[in-house]
Amino acid sequence: DNRTSKDYYFDSYAHHSIHEEMLKDEVRTKTYQMAILQNPQIFKDKIVLDVGCGTGVLSMFAAQAGAKHVYAVDCSSIIHQARTIVKLNNFEDKITLIEGKIEEIKLPVAQIDVLLSEWIGYCLLYESMLDSVLFARDKWLVPNGIVFPDKSVLYIAAIEDGQVKKERIDFWDNVYGFDMTPLKDIAIKEPVVDVVDAKALVTDAVPVLTLDILTCTKEDLAFKNPFKLKAHRNDYIHGLVTYFECAFTQLHKPIGFSTAPFARYTHWKQTIFYLRNTLTICNRETIEGEFACRPNAKNNRDLDISISLSFKGLYSQFEQKDIEYRLR
Ligand code: SAH
Repeated sequence: DNRTSKDYYFDSYAHHSIHEEMLKDEVRTKTYQMAILQNPQIFKDKIVLDVGCGTGVLSMFAAQAGAKHVYAVDCSSIIHQARTIVKLNNFEDKITLIEGKIEEIKLPVAQIDVLLSEWIGYCLLYESMLDSVLFARDKWLVPNGIVFPDKSVLYIAAIEDGQVKKERIDFWDNVYGFDMTPLKDIAIKEPVVDVVDAKALVTDAVPVLTLDILTCTKEDLAFKNPFKLKAHRNDYIHGLVTYFECAFTQLHKPIGFSTAPFARYTHWKQTIFYLRNTLTICNRETIEGEFACRPNAKNNRDLDISISLSFKGLYSQFEQKDIEYRLR
């Protein structure tokens, strides 16, 4: 079997369970639903493109909001079910389903007025699906067209997470009496996607990436940005966490959602980057760093993330450049 990782990527969306997880994520799906249904003025008599329609849910919202026509594109075989679902719900004259990669399909129209997509991955950019949205934007969107969502911000903060780090990372130090630290070296390089308790945040959170989906380019998705985190209590730092916000700001009244530890649960949870060392931080001390992120060269669905840290505290000091992680 000589299939590429790209084929496996689309296979992962063929099964209903992944769509079930996304649809049941109410923060995600209801925000899109509200953004669309509460803004019929954006959809009335407009041509809409849904990039990666999955079950067709966003396309059906757009049809409900009064779109003139919706083109729903997906490369995964889930589109066959979407076709049946669209018929079953009597949207077949409003929604045209097109099977294929957005980069390869032909659209029956030259321009679209509204670009809909739910491209969002773990740590915002995992899966690199935003590339495909930008491709569609540049190829078909009218000047001053609408993109759902159009803004996004990725944040970083430092966390106290000793208990979980012990279970996940230090576990390998002694497994039934055996030294399994080669696996510890591998485990620590892999960011963990899981729920972080809001109480674990020891510092403020600051943006490491601010994206305007209306204007950003593919190149902007490989970035390196500095950050400075300030502690709000005395504590220990075991790692860093990232989370993000997405917003629909072209609406009559802008709305959005957050995947912060202190916001409602979403299936994106948070992404944790464990550190080998534990930092002892005092209230109001600061950690300076740099967050770099780019698609992996071999498999561009994976993210290569590199974090540099510099900390000069009263009780501990730490300086390390380019701590490498790979989100896969
Ligand atoms: N819009 C649906 C599904 C979102 S999941 C919802 O909100 O529930 C993302 C979908 O995009 C998947 O079904 C995946 O197969 C599809 N997709 C990702 N990249 C694509 C591309 N380049 N061309 C076509 N479909 C793509």
